[in-house]
Amino acid sequence: MHMQNFDTLLKKSTEAHGHLCPGQVVGVRMAMLGCRLIGLDEPTRIDQIKKLIVIVEMDRCTGDAVAFVTGAKLGRRSLKFKDYGIMAATFINLETQTAFRVISTEEARDLAPAYAPEIPEKYPRQLEAYKRMPDSVLFRVQKVRVDMSEYDLPGPTRKKVSCSQCGQVVRDNREVVQNGCILCKPCAQEAYFSEAKEITWPDMNWTPAQEEQKSVAAEALRHEENP
Ligand SMILES: [Zn+2]
Ligand SMILES: [Zn+2]
Repeated sequence: MHMQNFDTLLKKSTEAHGHLCPGQVVGVRMAMLGCRLIGLDEPTRIDQIKKLIVIVEMDRCTGDAVAFVTGAKLGRRSLKFKDYGIMAATFINLETQTAFRVISTEEARDLAPAYAPEIPEKYPRQLEAYKRMPDSVLFRVQKVRVDMSEYDLPGPTRKKVSCSQCGQVVRDNREVVQNGCILCKPCAQEAYFSEAKEITWPDMNWTPAQEEQKSVAAEALRHEENP
């Protein structure tokens, strides 16, 4: 069994991402290397998918490619995002407890002209150069230990509590305790937003089913008018 080859993965990743960019090349290679290091040759296959956790450290093009190739998803809790602004991702095999952090090097950027000297424009040159560079130039790799909380693992929700201030249900141990009170993060003043006001809007009773009924009714009307 083998991972799909680079060209196939790049093509599919590019389709999913929306455009071909140097980040796709780096991300596909990062994911291929990361999976190989933790011993998963086909990470999207059902038996391997459950063993894998991927932590991406950037919300950039590369992150999309890493998620695509590994099949890691937020909805499956296999994809985690750490907002470090670093072009790196960590690949964890939950079964073997091995983890490797793969970091995209700055040298690779500087060396792009040397690897694709015939291409004058910056991005096409990077794109081609990142295909030609060996992993050793493109990446630095660290073997790391990641202590995963049971609340971060895939599987059913392990804990649900209600905020004592607003009543919101908080899942997976993300609540905050202040002066003995259980609070959601927004109520504990840890929100990314401010000045929240509940609003209403004119068609707030809209449902998709209504839309369907309306078009059926309109169709029936048209038949009545033009039998
Ligand atoms: Zn991109
Ligand atoms: Zn609350």
